[in-house]
Amino acid sequence: MSMTKLPKLPSIRDLIRIYNLRAKQQLSQNFLMDKNITDKIVHLAGLELENSLCVEVGPGPGLLTRSILDKGAKNVVAVEKDPRFVPTLEQLQDASNGRFGVVLGDMLEIDHGEIVRRGLSLESNADKHIEAFDHVHLLGNLPFSVATPLLIQWLHLLTARQGIFTSPNVTMSLMFQKEVGLRIVAPASNTERGRLSVVAQSICDAFKIYGVPSSSFVPRPKVDGMVVQLRPLAKPLLKSSLGTLEHVVRFSFMKRRKMLARIFKDWDPKHIALLEECEIDPTLRPQDVTTEKFCNLAQLIEQRGIQLPQ
Ligand code: SAM
Repeated sequence: MSMTKLPKLPSIRDLIRIYNLRAKQQLSQNFLMDKNITDKIVHLAGLELENSLCVEVGPGPGLLTRSILDKGAKNVVAVEKDPRFVPTLEQLQDASNGRFGVVLGDMLEIDHGEIVRRGLSLESNADKHIEAFDHVHLLGNLPFSVATPLLIQWLHLLTARQGIFTSPNVTMSLMFQKEVGLRIVAPASNTERGRLSVVAQSICDAFKIYGVPSSSFVPRPKVDGMVVQLRPLAKPLLKSSLGTLEHVVRFSFMKRRKMLARIFKDWDPKHIALLEECEIDPTLRPQDVTTEKFCNLAQLIEQRGIQLPQ
């Protein structure tokens, strides 16, 4: 048997039935059952196979995990919050030829050191640091209810180069609900443009790699899914702390239909000058401002120590 192919395993449908894994709505459990779809996601994610760590968030019964392993990934660590999936994931671990490990925990709270240690334990002769891997791939059919907080947390870790983001090359291929995915990738002047677009694009190149209709999930959610890939920019546009940029866009998008001149005048008429200093046309609405200009504005506000309204 090939070292990088999984042996024949029971179907995900059968596992769900045998272990009585009824989906829990509070954990946003909407499972993918079609291996063609999970294989396609992994194919489009473009995994580097040599010396890389794949971190999957929320493997559930494990179909996406199977596709990652079938692709030939040698080091896969999955973080799952729901202990009911441990038996099925342990089965996959046994079948993986030492290529897969599970960490039970909440991805929002987990110590990334635990993920890295689990990954390193799969490798023989590996250093004891994340730098031992040339690439880190973060993948997941994310729980929709916490997908945005997870992404925001990862963007903060990426700017600080902490946790699994200490690696020089990190690629994220993540399933969001379509509306959130469209926001993340929306360029300036797109109708979907919002806070998340600016914050994500200040440090990452973000683009859609795949659309997944709601009918592909079990149980079927009310919304479609969209897989977005985020790759850190070689030269980030962000020049302030990410927190300051978040604050600037939160404030600016609070009245998204109004012109920036009006938004800034309502705050304090003297602050309209900040827009001019950053060469931002004050007659624009927030969604029409480029990510670069928002980053310049955040930099200026931070440098001057100006307090934005809460
Ligand atoms: N990957 C599986 C698939 O594609 O069929 C399941 C995806 S399902 C949308 C989301 C998964 O994330 C569930 O298994 C759920 O238990 C898990 N989950 C929910 N919240 C989580 C969290 N905070 N940390 C880790 N896993 C979480």
